Amino acid sequence: MRIRRRRSKVIKVGNVKLGGNNPVVIQSMAKTFTSDLVATVREIKELQKAGCQIVRLAVRNNKDAMALGKIKQCISIPLVADIHFDKNLAIKAIQSGVDKIRLNPGNIYKKNEVKEIAQAAGKAHIPIRVGVNSGSITRYPLLNNRYPKDMAQTMVRCTLDYIKLLEGTGFDDIVVSLKASDIFTTIKANQMIAERCNYPLHLGMTATGPTFIGIVKSAMVMGRLLSEGIGDTIRISLTDRAVQEVNIAYNILEALGLSNSRPGIISCPTCGRCEVDLIRLVKELDKRLSANSYQLSALPPKVAVMGCVVNGPGEARAADLGVAFGKKDGLLFRKGKAIRKIPFSKCVDVLLKELNKCVSLSRYNNSNYK
Ligand code: SF4
Repeated sequence: MRIRRRRSKVIKVGNVKLGGNNPVVIQSMAKTFTSDLVATVREIKELQKAGCQIVRLAVRNNKDAMALGKIKQCISIPLVADIHFDKNLAIKAIQSGVDKIRLNPGNIYKKNEVKEIAQAAGKAHIPIRVGVNSGSITRYPLLNNRYPKDMAQTMVRCTLDYIKLLEGTGFDDIVVSLKASDIFTTIKANQMIAERCNYPLHLGMTATGPTFIGIVKSAMVMGRLLSEGIGDTIRISLTDRAVQEVNIAYNILEALGLSNSRPGIISCPTCGRCEVDLIRLVKELDKRLSANSYQLSALPPKVAVMGCVVNGPGEARAADLGVAFGKKDGLLFRKGKAIRKIPFSKCVDVLLKELNKCVSLSRYNNSNYK
């Protein structure tokens, strides 16, 4: 099944396009102090290697703002400045050459301040993300520190107000996000805003909790919204290393058939019929595939790794590439045809070599592996 995406306005963040028919973009946020140039550039490079396409940095003070220009010179993915409370930091970030800024309507909302930032962003030809967050929305003037009865509706109202404020200054280079720590609120708010404006949507949740529950919540929210065609870029928030966020984002897109950056793995859970250490093999294959991201022009190839002959040959035949294990050896399948036996110890190397052939073919021929 192919997902029909909501057609939003196309917004450029550096050399990356959000919205329209462009692929869903993976982004993340560095966890270093932005003013720590060495650590921040190191983390951004790690993120990029894992497949991150846009990176955001927290700008808390002048020291952070001053570091942005230097960081930008050391990296090759678009840089977003995350601004709260202080409009002067927004102006400094824009002047330092960032590719987008994020404003929080819960703490920068005065008309004259928003106008000044919009004019600076307009002059620099960079977009602004209206980043509404349930945790800070109560500061928004219309709420007067009251917690709203219907958070999703309030977030939508706040977003539309802010869009109007920006559009009133002649600025419409806008991306929006509505994030809550509750899955139902996040889903409802995004479904509602998707119908009320045509700006690209940045999907995410906030404050998701420990890693595993954070992954589950994120997959539920992103899975629901993306399968409805809603969402142009995603950031997975985890109380964990940023590179994990990128890996989970990739896996969610891959599961939905929305990724064109890595081959996908299908593998069985193993059971008493499996006579090889399939769990170790699949972990190694995943690790080695995750070490590279590709920009494929077609759907990435799928590889099936199965523990025995019960479901093994069937799954292996249905994928572009597959292996079904017997006692020690596996039977290699290519496009449904049994090719040859391979020993367990050589399996990962053989699959990677075969996958590289698939990737080259889909990269250059605009078709899947033949
Ligand atoms: Fe068990 Fe075989 Fe199914 Fe794997 S494919 S779960 S080993 S029956």
